[in-house]
Amino acid sequence: MSGIFGWSYPPGCSGTPWDNEGPCDVCGKDVDKCICAECKVCGCQGDPQCYDQEHGHGLVRTATQVESLRSEMDKWEAIAQAEAEYWEARAREDAMAAEEVWP
Ligand SMILES: [Zn+2]
Ligand SMILES: [Zn+2]
Repeated sequence: MSGIFGWSYPPGCSGTPWDNEGPCDVCGKDVDKCICAECKVCGCQGDPQCYDQEHGHGLVRTATQVESLRSEMDKWEAIAQAEAEYWEARAREDAMAAEEVWP
C-alpha cells in the first residue's frame, strides 16, 4: 500500500516503509536498521522462524527487540489511523458538498 502521507516522512528518510522489503518482522525496524542478532543456525537476521519455540533455531527475542517492535507498530498504527481519518474527513466533505448542490 502506498500512503498519501508519503510526503510527510521526515527528511532523510528514504521513501515509504512499503518501498523496502521491511520492516523486520522481529524488531519492526527497516531491514537496514534491523537490530536483531544473526541466527547461528541459518545465518538469517530478523527471521521470526528462528525465534519459533518449537521449530526455531533457539533464538530468543530480547526486551529491546520486543520494545522496538511495539513502538514501531504504534508508529505504523498512528500513520494508518491518520490516513483513515483523512479519508473519513474527505468523505464527510464530499457528503456535505453533495448536500449543498442538492436542491
Ligand atoms: Zn530485526
Ligand atoms: Zn535461523
